[in-house]
Amino acid sequence: MIVVGAGLTGGRAAEALRQQGYAGRVVLVGEEPERPYERPPLSKELLRGEKRSSEFFLRSEPYYAEQRIELRLNTRVERIDAQAHRALLSGGSVLSYDRLLIATGCTVRRLRVPGTELRGLHYLRTLRDADAIASALAARPNVLVVGAGFIGCEVAASARMLGCHVTMIDVATPLAAVIGERLGQWIASMHRAHGVDVRVGVGVAAFHGTERVETALLDNGEEVPCGLVVIGVGVMPNIPAVEGATLDVQDGIVVDERCRTSIADLYAAGDVASWPHPVWGERLRVEHFDHAQNHGVWAAKCMLGETKPYAPVPFFWSDQYDRSIQYVGYAPRWNDLVLRASPESGSFSAFYLMDGRLQACFAVNRFKDISAARRLLRTRSTIDPELLADESVDLKKLLVEPA
Ligand SMILES: Cc1cc2nc3c(=O)[nH]c(=O)nc-3n(C[C@H](O)[C@H](O)[C@H](O)COP(=O)(O)OP(=O)(O)OC[C@H]3O[C@@H](n4cnc5c(N)ncnc54)[C@H](O)[C@@H]3O)c2cc1C
Repeated sequence: MIVVGAGLTGGRAAEALRQQGYAGRVVLVGEEPERPYERPPLSKELLRGEKRSSEFFLRSEPYYAEQRIELRLNTRVERIDAQAHRALLSGGSVLSYDRLLIATGCTVRRLRVPGTELRGLHYLRTLRDADAIASALAARPNVLVVGAGFIGCEVAASARMLGCHVTMIDVATPLAAVIGERLGQWIASMHRAHGVDVRVGVGVAAFHGTERVETALLDNGEEVPCGLVVIGVGVMPNIPAVEGATLDVQDGIVVDERCRTSIADLYAAGDVASWPHPVWGERLRVEHFDHAQNHGVWAAKCMLGETKPYAPVPFFWSDQYDRSIQYVGYAPRWNDLVLRASPESGSFSAFYLMDGRLQACFAVNRFKDISAARRLLRTRSTIDPELLADESVDLKKLLVEPA
């Protein structure tokens, strides 16, 4: 068994192969120098100096030898020969496989404007990226965050919490693509209340400076002084080169509900793969932690013969300042948004419904609502919006267990 990509998905998959009793050879190949680690603290505790990177590893170093998982770090799979069942590694060596899992995740989308070669511009995906940003933050520079997605919002919050002057810009309202315009505006106002200069409806036209970045020219003509720029304008799936057969790719690698790609004995999971959700009835590609680890484990089981479909209730979280933001479900569309408590109170939930049917719940500092919503989403039954909005109603009591 070869697992390509030693991130969260790949790491959990390799572990699960052993936990499921597989006794044959397992090789985990990763191009980063570190053994598998968790990325969420990179934009939060690590940037703020609250935790050290050594705390983020999935497993201790000896674990892999103990489990007979061969770790090939600093090694890239350059090509997969699907006919010969071989993976060609950087450095020239070749590995044969019976089954191979592609867990290559995503890579950052690069901004293409003049001046991006200047020093002081950063992207955030890896531990090394985070270490470099954390060192730059030590001088408390003026920070410009380009892109108000999850990474951008978390970096802005961390930099503000350290006392930096922070400007965050985006062509759209923060997170509106996921949570909608109304709640996106709430996110923007939360950042403004913490002192971030949030500018919506603008992009960057160019960066200026001599060697280091000094200002950013926005596309509305304004100039923003900045000593540190963090760009978070999305990610793209890392699709490895496959020869000898055609890998079906449409916004990520297309897999079925058992993590199988279009090619025999090739599986894919995590950020890089999209799969048909048997309950939501559409193809999803999720770029979040909970899914990455669950899909990795599921893929390992499928490589060993599991036949049940992968059907989780999607979930993610984001921590910004003292707000614990959580989202459960999946709502690309909705025709009713029901609020439980007011966003101004700082602790509220929002329920996304389509024709009366619950699709997702977004909650801020409301763990109980998320846990009730998760259970409600399993049945996908229709729910009276008035009951969802009424704080005196216990959400757990709305659950109608299937007969
Ligand atoms: C800064 C940051 C903060 C985050 N915070 C949260 C959060 O708060 N909540 C949440 O739900 N999610 C969060 N996420 C998202 C979550 O971390 C990802 O969904 C998860 O890491 C995806 O795991 P993955 O293993 O599928 O992909 P990745 O983490 O991208 O790992 C893939 C690995 O494969 C390697 N690789 C790629 N190509 C090759 C190749 N050809 N050969 C060998 N190796 C290869 C890559 O180098 C990488 O190490 C965050 C992500 C980041 C970057």
